[in-house]
Amino acid sequence: MSTILIVEDEADIRAVLEYNLTQAGYETVQASTGAQALQVARTTPIHLVLLDLMLPDRSGTDICRALRKEPATAAVPIIILTARTDEIDRVVGFEVGADDYVVKPFSVRELLLRIQVILRRKTSDSSPGTPIAFGPVRVDKEAHRVWMNDVEIALTALEFKLLCTLYERRNRVQSRDTLLGDVWGMRSDVNTRTVDTHVKRLREKLNEAGEYIQTVRGVGYRLATTPGEEMPS
Ligand code: CA
Repeated sequence: MSTILIVEDEADIRAVLEYNLTQAGYETVQASTGAQALQVARTTPIHLVLLDLMLPDRSGTDICRALRKEPATAAVPIIILTARTDEIDRVVGFEVGADDYVVKPFSVRELLLRIQVILRRKTSDSSPGTPIAFGPVRVDKEAHRVWMNDVEIALTALEFKLLCTLYERRNRVQSRDTLLGDVWGMRSDVNTRTVDTHVKRLREKLNEAGEYIQTVRGVGYRLATTPGEEMPS
């Protein structure tokens, strides 16, 4: 059973989360301040954190960074709960390093789906040598070759790197800045427009499988390995 830490200062929201997560079969632990959250995270094994950004003592972004620094919690997935859409880009980018976010007021069903996807991804990541394949697409990473329905498609080195990067973080939103840093290495002659152009071209080349790369409006892109689980964004 997975244990989820709920960090939220509003008792009503905590209660709703606690009730629904328990119904869905998760264990929960709770914290109403940032200090309490760090203390609980240090003493209890946790599989995922739901983190409110506006806490009374410290900001959620501070707590997120602190959790990333501690070896025991560095790899624990963090989903941010926020009413402020203007911060999302920073929060899921490398500056703060959260895995995903939901915007308040959020739908509990959507949040439960995100939790499921993230926890499942963690499990599949731990099996070594998993080949890259989603839908009709198959990738040989070492040979730098890609097939769709067994027909090889020609990708440029950048498109190939973009595809692999999106796949490595599949089902999680990646901001344009994150992609820019990780695929292009923050070269000064490219900007976030470059990311859009390359994603567009990659989608065209992937043809019908292009729909696996979803646009998350105002934030960036997400490779959804099961487009049926597509969530409103
Ligand atoms: Ca709050």
